[in-house]
Amino acid sequence: SIRPLVAGNWKMNGLKADLAIAAQAAKGYDTALKQAVDLAICPPATLLFAASAALIGARIATGGQDCSTQDSGAFTGETSAAMLADAGADFCIVGHSERRTLHGETNATVKAKAEAAQKALLVPIVCVGETRDEREAGKALAIVKKQLRGSVPDGSTGATLVVAYEPVWAIGTGLTPTAADVAEMHAAIRTELGRLLGKAEAAGVRLLYGGSVKPANAAELMNVAHVDGALVGGASLKAEDFLAIARAC
Ligand code: 13P
Repeated sequence: SIRPLVAGNWKMNGLKADLAIAAQAAKGYDTALKQAVDLAICPPATLLFAASAALIGARIATGGQDCSTQDSGAFTGETSAAMLADAGADFCIVGHSERRTLHGETNATVKAKAEAAQKALLVPIVCVGETRDEREAGKALAIVKKQLRGSVPDGSTGATLVVAYEPVWAIGTGLTPTAADVAEMHAAIRTELGRLLGKAEAAGVRLLYGGSVKPANAAELMNVAHVDGALVGGASLKAEDFLAIARAC
């Protein structure tokens, strides 16, 4: 079966002193945990170089939280995928709902970013998920399938793509879908990826659940079929909680 991945998304949190959180996670990533689960920390870009250097010995990966669609040039304020890779990143989150909502990123933008990440040999963590209104209207599956069709690069494989299902209404709210709802969605995502990439390739793509994952609910969520790990926001800022979630995989 697929080796799970637990990735921490620090969002716009973290100063140099907070690298202590990463160091503490490294300390707790013991042999047993290393055998069971991959870990990644996605700090703000300012900390990526230092975090990567601090974590490489512990075999904890790092990732960016976003990247430019462009390779280089006159794009003030942007960070290219190659720059993230050069700073030590292995992954890059793309299409997080906060980017889609606050920065107007479309599926086409997200796909271009995922392609830019792959070109720089980063593994994009492509985020999808419905809003509360969309779920209440019974459109969650249709919306997520449409996001996948629009955002996943052609030719992606289990080695070059991770998908994160993050229901927008579950992010930072303490609310989570039921295990049955997560099971239904993750099975649908696997099926849709099979249509897009081929069944064999889709079978190897790690499907993370994200949205209010905490030590208290991690075991239930991580034991759902087709859930291959977690994308953790708030709880990833506490090494103990992050490690507890990893142990639940
Ligand atoms: P929370 O875990 O804080 O709900 O955030 C989830 C998230 O957005 C991870 O990308």
